[in-house]
Amino acid sequence: MEKRRLGKTEMMVSLVGLGGIPLQRVDQEQATQIIKAAHESGINFIDTARAYSVSESLIGNALETLGLREEFYLATKSMHRIYSAMKSEIETSLKNLKTDYIDLYQVHLIKTKKDYDTVMSEEGAYRALLEAKAEGKIRFIGITGHDAKLIEGLTDPEFFDTVQFPYNPVEPQGEPVFRKAVKHDMGTIVMKPVAGGAITDVPSSLKWIKENPDVFLMIPGMDSVEQVIENVRALETPLEEVKRRELEAFAKELGTEFCRRCGYCLPCPMGIDIPTMFLFEGYLKRYNLGEWSRERYSSVENKASACIKCGICETRCPYDLPIIKMMKRVAETFE
Ligand code: SF4
Ligand code: SF4
Repeated sequence: MEKRRLGKTEMMVSLVGLGGIPLQRVDQEQATQIIKAAHESGINFIDTARAYSVSESLIGNALETLGLREEFYLATKSMHRIYSAMKSEIETSLKNLKTDYIDLYQVHLIKTKKDYDTVMSEEGAYRALLEAKAEGKIRFIGITGHDAKLIEGLTDPEFFDTVQFPYNPVEPQGEPVFRKAVKHDMGTIVMKPVAGGAITDVPSSLKWIKENPDVFLMIPGMDSVEQVIENVRALETPLEEVKRRELEAFAKELGTEFCRRCGYCLPCPMGIDIPTMFLFEGYLKRYNLGEWSRERYSSVENKASACIKCGICETRCPYDLPIIKMMKRVAETFE
């Protein structure tokens, strides 16, 4: 597995790391097997988050059982913006991950400049991260977000060692973010390498990302040993021209108004599983799985038509998707 230097952190990371979101869907035994397979395949980086429910604990338990803590660089992140809350988050992460140090702790999902200013204020979360760094509880501090202009502006080597941003063939907007980070010797980490599942040709997407020399690490989510093997194998050969053209055509067809299935919009007061509604629609319209998606949709209790247009979800979506309008379209498609 190719390793790249994660900027000034000097960590030599495997080009593919293990993204921890999907671990929420598996049990402890499966999580342990996935992490074991990752290690055997040459992966040496795991990224998770406080927001990913049991993901940190599953990783911590697995690493303890396997005795592999020292074989991985561990990264996590928190969306808390206030000093006291971040202090407590760091302690929780250390406990969950069953370790006395975390290699990279990231300020998770900065959405606005106001958000950032709160983090960096005297009573903000950043001070807690600096203290933890001084105490040896964390080694490096990173920033993550989804808004290219905002995050490019905030990619400041004085405060951060790494930047994590979405990047894939249908969302190349992160290129200037990574370019700036590399210029300042910061580490670059790609989240959403398959656009939250919108891209089904996973190997081609990873090959495409690998071609960008400003990318040091990509962290596809993996919830099976087979996925670990498939992702690692993908990078052994270059992207074929025919696949590149397919990706370009798909990007054109998809546009920018699509759900990345991050789940930040949830919970919906009407109990609608918002990303799943869009998933069914995508399967119906893009992947020719009409019967399958209609069947699944009809078995769901809270359907798109239950939307009361309260708009809460739209304030939470990091991609500013017009969810109400999209939900109406789903209802019209299926009902
Ligand atoms: S706008 Fe509709 S989908 Fe969004 S949170 Fe409100 S009820 Fe749920
Ligand atoms: S609608 Fe937005 S917040 Fe919700 S899962 Fe999709 S991309 Fe994420």
